Amino acid sequence: MKNITIAIDGHSSCGKSTMAKQLARELGYIYVDTGAMYRTVTLYALRQGFFDEASSLNEAALRADIEGGKVQVGFVLNPTTRLPEPSLNGEVVEAYIRGIDVSSRVSIIAALPFVRAALTLQQQKMGEEGGIVMDGRDIGTVVFPHAELKVFVTARAEVRAQRRYDELLAKGQPAAYDDILKNVRERDYLDSHRAVAPLKQADDALLLDNSDLTREEQSQWLLQKAREAMAE
Ligand code: C5P
Repeated sequence: MKNITIAIDGHSSCGKSTMAKQLARELGYIYVDTGAMYRTVTLYALRQGFFDEASSLNEAALRADIEGGKVQVGFVLNPTTRLPEPSLNGEVVEAYIRGIDVSSRVSIIAALPFVRAALTLQQQKMGEEGGIVMDGRDIGTVVFPHAELKVFVTARAEVRAQRRYDELLAKGQPAAYDDILKNVRERDYLDSHRAVAPLKQADDALLLDNSDLTREEQSQWLLQKAREAMAE
C-alpha cells in the first residue's frame, strides 16, 4: 500500500481533529493539526500584548517578530498520549490555545498573508514524505492540492457548538453555549470570506456531513475511503 497524503478540511468544531487523529493512529501516519499552529501564533500575539482592548491587532509588530524568527511553532510528542502537542518557542502550549480568548481572535491572525505564507511552507515540509493526515481549512486547496485523499467535513452550527461546549466543560474550561455558537458562526464567515486561502471545498474533495453520524460510523467511513485511496 502507498504512503499517501490525506487532507481533512472543513468548518470549525466539526470534529476534524478527532477523526484525523484517529485515522493517523490506525494507519501509523503522522498527524498534523494546522489549526493548532494558527492558534499558537494567536497566543503569541496575545501574550505580547499585540491586541488592544478592542481586539485590533498591531500587525507590524507581529510581522516583524515572525520575519525575525521570534515565533517558532512546532509539535512535541506527548509521551503519555503519544500525540503531538503544539509548542511555542519550545514551550508546550496545548492547554492555552483552545479557550475563547484565542478562539475569538484566531481568524484575524489566520487572514494575514505573512502568517499563512510562513505556516503553509512549514506544513508542506512536514508532508514531503507522505504518510500524513493533516487537518485544517486549506489543506486540500492550497497546502497539498495533489493530496490523494481529500475530505471536507461539516455539520450544523448548533451541533458543532454543542460539541465544543461539551469538550470545554470536560476540560474544566466552561464557557457559555451562546458565545460558542456565535464564535462558530463568526469563524465560518471569516474563514470563508478572507482573501487568502479561504475555506472552501476542493473540487475533488469528498463531502462528509457528520451532524447525524456517530463517531464510530464516521471513522468507519473515513478508514474505508483511506484504504481505497491507498490501494489505487
Ligand atoms: O481547526 P481549528 O478550529 O482549531 O482552527 C482555528 C482557526 O485557525 C480557524 O478558525 C481558522 O481561522 C484558522 N485555520 C486556517 N487554516 C488552517 C487551519 C486553521 O485558517 N489550515
